[in-house]
Amino acid sequence: MNPEEKFKNDLMRRQKKDMHLKFFYEDPSRQYIKVPIFSKLSPKKHILPFRNTECLKPSCIYDIQDALDKFKDSQMSSMHGFICYYCNTFIELQKFCLDLTLKKIIDQVWERFNKINKIICNGVTIMRDGQWEPNLPEYLSKKEIV
Ligand SMILES: [Zn+2]
Repeated sequence: MNPEEKFKNDLMRRQKKDMHLKFFYEDPSRQYIKVPIFSKLSPKKHILPFRNTECLKPSCIYDIQDALDKFKDSQMSSMHGFICYYCNTFIELQKFCLDLTLKKIIDQVWERFNKINKIICNGVTIMRDGQWEPNLPEYLSKKEIV
């Protein structure tokens, strides 16, 4: 197995549910968080969403390919890291985990709203109790979509 495949396997082995809950624990008055369903590095792509456990913001989302690219930029060493594009914290490549809860939401958004050539949903709002809703343009009332 080459180093890139090995790193990818390691990434896929680290999966966690409810990674976003920490933002609710940190701030008990918070009722919801806004989460993008795209990565800045992979716009318009149906991403496989990774979070880094060092990250500070709900919006810190990366696609698996972003992590792989960073790995390649780091001379194939998973000991390296980089400064997060969203929260400006130093994050280690080894601390990326697949956010299973967000993956499920993103898959549903793509099933219901987005197509490769027509993106209408860029993000979601996740409530404290785990319910979520897509952030849609004003002209689309929820009724029309259902
Ligand atoms: Zn971050």
